[in-house]
Amino acid sequence: MCRWFDSAPGHIFILDMKKKIALITGITGQDGAYLANLLLNNNYKIFGAYRRSSSLNLWRLEELGILDSIELVSFELLEKSNIERVIKLINPDEIYNLAAQSYVGTSFENPIYTTQANALGALRILESIRMINKNIKFYQASSSEMFGEGIPQKLNEKSMFHPRSAYAVSKVFGHQITINYREAYGIFACSGILFNHESPLRGTEFVTRKITSTLAEIQAGRKKTLELGDYYAKRDWGYAVDFVEGIWRMMQNDKPKDYVLATGEAHSVKEFATIAARTMGFDLIWKGKKTNEYAIDKNTKKVLIKKNSKFYRPSDVSFLRGDAKEAKKDLGWKPKVKFKELVKIMVESDKKKSLKGKILQ
Ligand code: NDP
Ligand code: GDP
Repeated sequence: MCRWFDSAPGHIFILDMKKKIALITGITGQDGAYLANLLLNNNYKIFGAYRRSSSLNLWRLEELGILDSIELVSFELLEKSNIERVIKLINPDEIYNLAAQSYVGTSFENPIYTTQANALGALRILESIRMINKNIKFYQASSSEMFGEGIPQKLNEKSMFHPRSAYAVSKVFGHQITINYREAYGIFACSGILFNHESPLRGTEFVTRKITSTLAEIQAGRKKTLELGDYYAKRDWGYAVDFVEGIWRMMQNDKPKDYVLATGEAHSVKEFATIAARTMGFDLIWKGKKTNEYAIDKNTKKVLIKKNSKFYRPSDVSFLRGDAKEAKKDLGWKPKVKFKELVKIMVESDKKKSLKGKILQ
């Protein structure tokens, strides 16, 4: 059983005074789970902020075996009074704001909600810190999506922003307001501009996990084809476990500063899908021209991967590659897992999950 922390007024709790206290928003997400695991190993007391729903998704914390070690606290980015109450009661040393409407595709459908959660959500937390205790350190989850389109060079902390979705625009606001609260009020507030990072705990709507989970379902005979949008979009994909280590190091820095975390390599969706399919055991052959390109399984002659225009976005980012030199220099951070190993980790995990039953998607 996990522990539920009641943030209602009047609740009293006793803490081990030697331990640092961290409040992690978005505890039910990919990064929340891995960061909690890292902080527990560093002797933190963790309060995990989740949003209430009729079917709470705790599977990531369960998969890492850390659900029992976290105090769960009900938290909503849209509700300032709730945020204030939680911060007053816990009085954490560090707040990691990982909660967000994190899927770019959804931000085209729900741009106003995305902005409320991601942009004003970050501001609500910062404003609460300003009012309650300016010594609380704050981390904001910024994104490489903020850079947007058309820059073939490696992107760093000084590169220009040209956001291409409501998600990216909302993250630019969260990023800039974090800088503003640092400069205006002297709060230890920093942002990590993180390039895409993936893992077996990644949501199945994101392209990497969609590929590995669907291929595993095809292999198990529960699905027929994998349908994708733009095969040629390129991303700098790293491993989430490496990236949460960088997040934590930013918060232990002497002074608050923003850093890019990236691997420095860009690969296409097609490369990811091809390596994943081969690692899964399919003998893949690509056929057709750019507009109607598809892949068949050489053994069964069946179509394994095809295009579906519904997965294209009104405006997309075709290429992202980052330069994490600054993080290496100041924080000693460098990613350990490279692209091919990442694909392998995700394929092996989804293969195992599909043997046990249907993968959630
Ligand atoms: P996930 O989508 O896995 O997790 C998002 C978390 O935010 C979930 O716990 C979700 O809760 C929570 N959440 C969503 N809306 C609200 C709300 N209104 N109030 C409270 N909580 C809410 O994302 P990741 O773990 O992958 O990413 C963590 C952060 O890093 C996000 O801010 C993301 O935008 C950012 N980021 C991620 C990158 C990546 O490649 N992973 C790259 C760059 C930035 P629930 O489970 O209930 O949905
Ligand atoms: P993002 O970088 O945060 O948008 O992460 P995603 O994993 O959602 O998308 C990465 C890139 O893959 C984007 O350029 C998408 O347009 C592209 N892509 C191509 N096909 C798909 C698909 O079927 N699903 C998703 N999510 N993205 C796809």
